[in-house]
Amino acid sequence: MTTLNTIPTNENMKDEMLHITLADGMVRGLLLTATGVVAKAAAIHCTSPLSTAALGRSLMGTAMMGAMLKGEESSVTVTIDGGGPIGKIVCVADAESVRGCVDVPNLIMPLRPDGKLSVGMAVGKDGRMSVVKDLGMARPYVGQTQLISGEIAEDFANYYMQSEQTPTLQSLGVLVNGENVLSAGGVLLQVMPGCTDDIIDQLELRSPLMYDISRELCYESMEDLMARWFDGLKPVILERKPLSYRCTCTRERMEKALIALGREELSRMIADETDGAELTCHFCKRSHKFSQGDLIKLLNKAVEK
Ligand SMILES: [Zn+2]
Repeated sequence: MTTLNTIPTNENMKDEMLHITLADGMVRGLLLTATGVVAKAAAIHCTSPLSTAALGRSLMGTAMMGAMLKGEESSVTVTIDGGGPIGKIVCVADAESVRGCVDVPNLIMPLRPDGKLSVGMAVGKDGRMSVVKDLGMARPYVGQTQLISGEIAEDFANYYMQSEQTPTLQSLGVLVNGENVLSAGGVLLQVMPGCTDDIIDQLELRSPLMYDISRELCYESMEDLMARWFDGLKPVILERKPLSYRCTCTRERMEKALIALGREELSRMIADETDGAELTCHFCKRSHKFSQGDLIKLLNKAVEK
């Protein structure tokens, strides 16, 4: 019998998103393997297994949303705030990269009776998922739905249904063994207008197969899973895209954030912090140092609030 300890770790595995269709385009889908992305997030944020799972699922759900955006400059920010002990999870994705952070990275809670990590309990369901899509237009698109379980995949599927009227089947999984991320992946299927009831029934019938995707990905490739799960439904791979954990923070962006604090706050900072200030990025933990002289220069650019 294979135990968790004998599964090889896949930290250097190449993460990839497959864009697929089923049944002559009546269903569109995404298959994702993101072990490297989740392992990197866990390393940056020093997460407990529970926080790794919650952040990992959120990163993958956001990456899948990002993969469906039109336009190279587009990005999406997903905030999951369910009122649970893990606090808020924020993830940002574009077509080929994702980054994220979680309020409580080291949360520990008892396992569920079925032995799984208590992601739903940690996230909570007394709150909202909000989605901000920046499509390069004057104003971003903003959507919001109530969380239904805090288990993340169900909450994303519910968002697509409520906010975009698209029936969606989604599964997201992170398999951890202590600090090690063994496997992470996801699947998303969306029913297009005109899809027949027969195809919808077929998907519902097969949905339990996709429930444990992270464990399945330890043993089979995405291509093999696709062939097995969607046998008879004419699965076609349209496109393959790499995915990585990448932050876009720069000193310039940090400067803008400081300027945005306004004159009063900046003046207080200059008076209080004679050694200057050090800002750490929430997503990648990189720090940027600003001397008192730097802050004074920024103060001159800031406006009264
Ligand atoms: Zn950063």
